[in-house]
Amino acid sequence: MQWDIEGRSAIVTGAGSGIGRAVALRLGQYGVAVGIVDLDASRAEATSQEIQKLGGKALALAADVADSARVAEVVAHARETLGSIDYLVNIGGFHQRIPIQEITDSHWHRMLDVHLSGTFYFCRAVLPGMITRRFGRIVNMSSLHAFGKVPFAAHYSAAKAGIAGLTKALAVEVAPHSILVNAVAPGPIDTPLWRDGLTGSALDARIAKRIQAIPLGRLGQADEVAETILFLLSRANSHITGQVIGFNGGELMA
Ligand code: NAP
Repeated sequence: MQWDIEGRSAIVTGAGSGIGRAVALRLGQYGVAVGIVDLDASRAEATSQEIQKLGGKALALAADVADSARVAEVVAHARETLGSIDYLVNIGGFHQRIPIQEITDSHWHRMLDVHLSGTFYFCRAVLPGMITRRFGRIVNMSSLHAFGKVPFAAHYSAAKAGIAGLTKALAVEVAPHSILVNAVAPGPIDTPLWRDGLTGSALDARIAKRIQAIPLGRLGQADEVAETILFLLSRANSHITGQVIGFNGGELMA
């Protein structure tokens, strides 16, 4: 096996679409039992069935990651059905383009609740098992937005910067237990979230404009982000922790 992860168990949030779905399908393909968490029960089920059709093991778990009690339930259910959770990939999220003066309290809290609190709730729920077994890998989803340059989504940028901070704080705290925690920070990735309902010439125009800022001259693909995440989860990564890995075609060179 390329990544030497066969026989492990994982939870992937936001696995009904885009990057989360790509990660879940790859994990399933490489013999990892996957808990498929998504807000949309039918999409979680669709990803789960796709993995099962290919001979893998998966469990659909409909949940709002911002619901602390539901997260605890979902992790317990996944553990009972799939076994101890070795890998957690926190991906579920959404984007809103709103000028800062128009961001309401409700916009602000929902953005922070889903991205930052949701990531925290899942980390907190899986850590006791990982600490007991002295093994675990966590990958969180930050964004290029965490590092500035992208206007009209201050609440999203703040949430993604918070995830970068949480990732580092967690990484240093659990390193003595041999648990590795990293984040990826993608630039534009061609998913339903980035397309935002655009099609045809409107989409082509948006892509043409956006890629001008990207030295590699194209959008990233969900499968490519998924490969990077699999590397971070796998045995191939033995010494990278507390890092926020840019995935942006060179748009931001840290
Ligand atoms: P996507 O295709 O829209 O997938 C996101 C998935 O997360 C959807 O299935 C969505 O379900 C689910 N989700 C949203 N809120 C949730 C919640 N409260 N609880 C559980 N699941 C929830 O988007 P994507 O592009 O793959 O994005 C995945 C992650 O990457 C997000 O965190 C995003 O911020 C981040 N990211 C994306 C890009 C990009 O350019 N695409 C760049 C940087 C970072 P519903 O559709 O039912 O809401």
